[in-house]
Amino acid sequence: MGKVIITFFVVSMIVLQSCTGDMENINYKGNPEPLKQNAYIKLPLGAIKPTGWLKSQLEAQAEGLTGHVDDFWPDLVNSSWRGGDGEAWERGPYYLDGLVPLAYLLDDEKLIKKVNNWIEPILSSSRDSGWYGPAKNKDRWPLAVSNKVLMQYYEATNDSRAIEVLKNYFRYLKDTPPDWPDKDWRGVRAMENAVTGYWLFRQTKEPWIPDVIKSIQENSSDWTTYYEKFPWDSAASAEKKIPLNWGPDGLTAHVVNNAMAIKYPGLWFQQSGNKRFMNAVFDGISKYDLNHGQAGGRFSGDEHLSGKSPDRGTELCSVVEYMYSLEELYAIFGDNKLADRLEMLAYNALPGTTTADMWAHQYDQQSNQVIVNGDKRSWSTNGNYSNIYGLMPNFACCLANMHQGWPKFTQSLWMATNDNGLAAVAYGPCIVKAKVGKGTEVIISEETDYPFSGQINFRISSEKPARFSLYLRIPGWAENAEITYKGKTRTDKGGSTVMLYARWDPEDVITLKLPMNIRVEKRYNNSLSVLRGPLYYSLRIEKEYKKVTINYDNFGYKGSVDWEIYPKSAWNYGLMIDRANLTRGMDLVENEVTRYPFADKGDMIWSADSAKYIPWDKEAAVVITTRGMKIPGWTMKDNSADIPPLSPVKQQGVAEVIQLVPYGSAKLRITEFPVIDLKQVVDVFR
Ligand SMILES: [Zn+2]
Repeated sequence: MGKVIITFFVVSMIVLQSCTGDMENINYKGNPEPLKQNAYIKLPLGAIKPTGWLKSQLEAQAEGLTGHVDDFWPDLVNSSWRGGDGEAWERGPYYLDGLVPLAYLLDDEKLIKKVNNWIEPILSSSRDSGWYGPAKNKDRWPLAVSNKVLMQYYEATNDSRAIEVLKNYFRYLKDTPPDWPDKDWRGVRAMENAVTGYWLFRQTKEPWIPDVIKSIQENSSDWTTYYEKFPWDSAASAEKKIPLNWGPDGLTAHVVNNAMAIKYPGLWFQQSGNKRFMNAVFDGISKYDLNHGQAGGRFSGDEHLSGKSPDRGTELCSVVEYMYSLEELYAIFGDNKLADRLEMLAYNALPGTTTADMWAHQYDQQSNQVIVNGDKRSWSTNGNYSNIYGLMPNFACCLANMHQGWPKFTQSLWMATNDNGLAAVAYGPCIVKAKVGKGTEVIISEETDYPFSGQINFRISSEKPARFSLYLRIPGWAENAEITYKGKTRTDKGGSTVMLYARWDPEDVITLKLPMNIRVEKRYNNSLSVLRGPLYYSLRIEKEYKKVTINYDNFGYKGSVDWEIYPKSAWNYGLMIDRANLTRGMDLVENEVTRYPFADKGDMIWSADSAKYIPWDKEAAVVITTRGMKIPGWTMKDNSADIPPLSPVKQQGVAEVIQLVPYGSAKLRITEFPVIDLKQVVDVFR
């Protein structure tokens, strides 16, 4: 038969589970009985490597805080988790949860050495009872994080000691009474243990592990009923009934707990098979959007759930935890809306809340963020310094926990399928090396500037032709995606998953073109946000960066700086929209700097000595120009931009050309724009 393609473009599928439920991947471990089979199987750490701008992003992280913070932050320097006599709770495990994947994604010797210095004391801390970690710690919560660290470490190294520590700890949970009180973090976050519990069950098939998880599910906070009833809705927010405390009710209104818990009913669905738990997940995500949704894919919480108005903040921990929840949920359900949301967070909320060099981060980010400083704010429970870009604004949890965001996202770009194929889950430049079919190893190189461009080439390399299915997710916003292979092109609808089945030859290239038309989305008070592909666009505001020292001295470390940012141009613009054609007059300017690599570092002062290409470093990468008009009555309130006036807003000025830049690069921004009433304007678009 030679190189004849047996089948190509066999079927386009929207619901995946119905087609693959009975199959079982022979190369990667899916769910054993009695668990339901998931839509996809996560690939082991190391199977996917970043390339292009994404590699530079991870390298910036390695050269930034992640590569250095445990050399100077006393809570990590002296951590009891690494054998010191200091902090013995969550900070060490949080840090490792990002350091471990970063080290192995980059094959960075320096970082791997760091990992080993931390991991060895943890591996040798396992006791006869099965408990492990620092002697000082009696709380189960930090072990829930540490379990995820050991899981990733094992995947990267095959060090069987990690499996033993985890097995002993799950045996400890089996042998001791449930201890998951609603008033403590370990109780509201108890099902976090199910991530590693199910993973351990896949690895070992120990039949008692599902019983342990059942006991956790039944004896910890009931998040499923929470999502069904959703007590902290917009009415509760408007009436100030959201409990701003740290007791059992306040913990269910806590933004990070919510971002973690959205996956708990989904995790349990694997074992229960009851659709009630699946529905709770999708219901919960809709309710977040409806009641607390913000531009950039996140929901607000500063740091209790705080409503939809665009002056509200979202804590960085909740961005990375929501991303991780979506990565887990996508593997379980395979619903493309979950991956669309994951990309939105990764490509807007995450870069928008750190400096490009990953040295400084915010505690709370805002969609309409017009000043960054420590002046008095009206956050629900956070301190005034929460939106500065610094080492540890407000509280140090994000400084410990932020590191997992980019590495775990990179690690989730591809997953294995139950029919021994591969699925492109989220898009970005990378290489995946994985086993397909009957065990053939293939490499797929994903060449793209995505999310700045919608063209993606998949280049297949293998020693010999390989027959397997390749699944491509078509984002919901893509109207007609084009897939081209060997001169043939087909188009597919947004939201679908396309399965391409063929005997792929070495050096075959499949091209996916996702049309990135500019579009708008209705938001708070009839305001509008502008999007292109997975990117939100924000008003470009001229800025002045001011180095400051807040309530600590960065522990004397010179590499770390705190920044306040002040606006040097007007921000109070409304958009001039042609209601018959919403995106008329919006023009895309694709600057050369979007092409990797480039040397011009632009105007961002914190990475002037770096030669790397970080797209979020430069506001001018892909720009949208349009018309706006100042709204004199729209001013500041409590040192944030006041809520956008109800649109349409009467025109009181002159039309100006304004620039919109990606949210992730705009450290000052308006993202939810009032709309100017254009009835009196005739020729603004000419
Ligand atoms: Zn935090």
